[in-house]
Amino acid sequence: MNLENSHQKHRQTDLIDGHAHLSDMEHPERAVENALSVGVNRIIAVSMNLESCRKTLALADRFPDNVFPAIGYHPWSVTAEDVEDTLLFIRQNLHRCVALGEVGLDYKVKVKKKLQQAVFSKLLNIAVQVHKPVIIHSRFSYQRTYEMVAEAGVEKAVFHWYSGPVEILDKIIVSGFYVSATPALAYSSHHQAAMSRAPVERILIETDAPVQYGDHFSQPADLHGTLLHLSRIKNMPEDQLAAIVTKNTKRFFGL
Ligand SMILES: [Zn+2]
Repeated sequence: MNLENSHQKHRQTDLIDGHAHLSDMEHPERAVENALSVGVNRIIAVSMNLESCRKTLALADRFPDNVFPAIGYHPWSVTAEDVEDTLLFIRQNLHRCVALGEVGLDYKVKVKKKLQQAVFSKLLNIAVQVHKPVIIHSRFSYQRTYEMVAEAGVEKAVFHWYSGPVEILDKIIVSGFYVSATPALAYSSHHQAAMSRAPVERILIETDAPVQYGDHFSQPADLHGTLLHLSRIKNMPEDQLAAIVTKNTKRFFGL
């Protein structure tokens, strides 16, 4: 009974975690249950590579009302040997998903830039053909990533955990794209600056679980933390902000 009461406030919320790696979590089922118990009712489950794409689709089959799959090929996972099989799988299964992701460029990893760009370009073309939104990783590659997304003719893109220069953020917004906020809002001045500048109608919220923030491995239930930090930055009550970002997320993913 006490537990019911303590969850009552959260139960009234209808939040969507716009980006979580359920397939990389040790107990994804428990993470979904924990999320539901605090009103995080839906989770966009992103993928890194072939193995995690398969796991993500299986989790979505298991929780059809709560887990919405995105399959992708993360720049950290790209290897010359896996490219062909992974792209084929994505081509064959993207129609079952709400988005392509996580994909993009990362100039801090050792994977060759040329290979990253070649793979990313092919992935963007697949998304354009199937008319799916794209969830973008753009760490230390903000300019090039933005250019490739814009040039590919992508309809909808979210620059996840955007912490890059504000000049590129302005281009992202003018192009009609979105950015997403993570729990790193608690400490990252670059992320704070971007979220402060972006219009609230173009922001999605997420956890990027199970990413570790401080000494805590995150899970989708932690989405309330992202919402709280964003509400301080935007100087807006949490419930009002929750309604806006949930609407944004539904619009973006077509939920
Ligand atoms: Zn991620």
